Amino acid sequence: MIKCKECGGEVSSKADACPKCGVRLKAKPSGCIVGFFKLIGGIVGTIIGLMVAISFLSGGDKRDPLQELESRCRALSDSYSIESEKPTVYSSCVSSGKAALKSRGVN
Ligand SMILES: [Zn+2]
Repeated sequence: MIKCKECGGEVSSKADACPKCGVRLKAKPSGCIVGFFKLIGGIVGTIIGLMVAISFLSGGDKRDPLQELESRCRALSDSYSIESEKPTVYSSCVSSGKAALKSRGVN
């Protein structure tokens, strides 16, 4: 048994809604999960973009940094499990990588 957050009545932990006041006890999991992956996708993209930029700035790599950044971000987004979030991963990866390169004077 759990306590209803609205009326304080006891509700079965298996119930979707409180039988007394009717408030929904469980948020729709699909919405939460999609929101979670959206957030994570943006964070993952940002981190990878920064890592690619840093590896160029510290490593004397002579390849075109922007081209390499884009290809790594594309590989990352392709491997991302949520189809609808691939563009988010890609764009946050490219934009954070570009910003990091720019801030160090690499076009
Ligand atoms: Zn209730």
